[in-house]
Amino acid sequence: MANRPPGAPVVHGFPHLATVRSAITALYRRLSADGVHAYATSLAPADAAFADQDDLHLGAQRVARALVQHFHLPDARLIVGFRAMEHAASVELTAGPEYFVELNDRFRTHRRDVGAALAHEVAHVLLHRLGLEFPGTRANEILTDTVTAYLGAGWLLLDAFREDAASRQKLGYLTPEEFGYVLAKRAFAFGEDPSPWFTSPQAYTAYAEGRERAARDLRRPPLSAAGWAGRRRYAKDRRYAREHPGAVPDPSVPYAFETGGPELRVSFPCPTCHQRIRVPVRGRFGARCGLCRTHLECDT
Ligand SMILES: [Zn+2]
Ligand SMILES: [Zn+2]
Repeated sequence: MANRPPGAPVVHGFPHLATVRSAITALYRRLSADGVHAYATSLAPADAAFADQDDLHLGAQRVARALVQHFHLPDARLIVGFRAMEHAASVELTAGPEYFVELNDRFRTHRRDVGAALAHEVAHVLLHRLGLEFPGTRANEILTDTVTAYLGAGWLLLDAFREDAASRQKLGYLTPEEFGYVLAKRAFAFGEDPSPWFTSPQAYTAYAEGRERAARDLRRPPLSAAGWAGRRRYAKDRRYAREHPGAVPDPSVPYAFETGGPELRVSFPCPTCHQRIRVPVRGRFGARCGLCRTHLECDT
């Protein structure tokens, strides 16, 4: 995991949203809906709690064990060491069952964030074992952060984001708002509310912004929860598609009409897993996403 130089500005907003969404789709494809739902319970705050009076090595091993169990890696053993290094943390990805994790020396005196750093590294081990990776370091790190958050340990990474007059800290590759977005997607899918777990006020604000963005995914046409303006635009685009068969879909809207077959069809991303769903254009009906099995009320 990369280390932000102290005092460097924190990137905000949603610059990696496309990769984050593909990461959620890839996770559902690799694990299946049942496999993802096996992670319905988030890591409990007590499991990652690490106070400054705890023994450094015993404490780090204890938190590592809790994370290995959380990610369903029963036979994996993490050996945690500390050293002066450029990065915040790193893990050696081997055949296992032992994995060597190195944490930056600064975590010796920032023990409450050891859980966050380890969560990301243990997610690397899980992805390595699943054979799931994205091409290029940057995309792969975004995949790792997204999976850490979607499977219930990433709230630690967002909670490590803290700013005050004297210092500023942020871990991981996602922006704070993007972590909030993935945590909210998880919260919607699992009926969970992570907000009581945040100890950092900046983390809570970023969660609220990410949740607002995630809620927008649930209100996009042709979902029946779409707002008036979206529906009006959708109706206009539908008329255009009927009158101009074969026209190239507008990339600025999330849906695309398909005129090739005997009836007009529309495809759009599932608001939960972002796999594209294709349905006939025939008014109001309920559909089920074939990948994550979310029930969707549509008005096509
Ligand atoms: Zn990493
Ligand atoms: Zn889905």
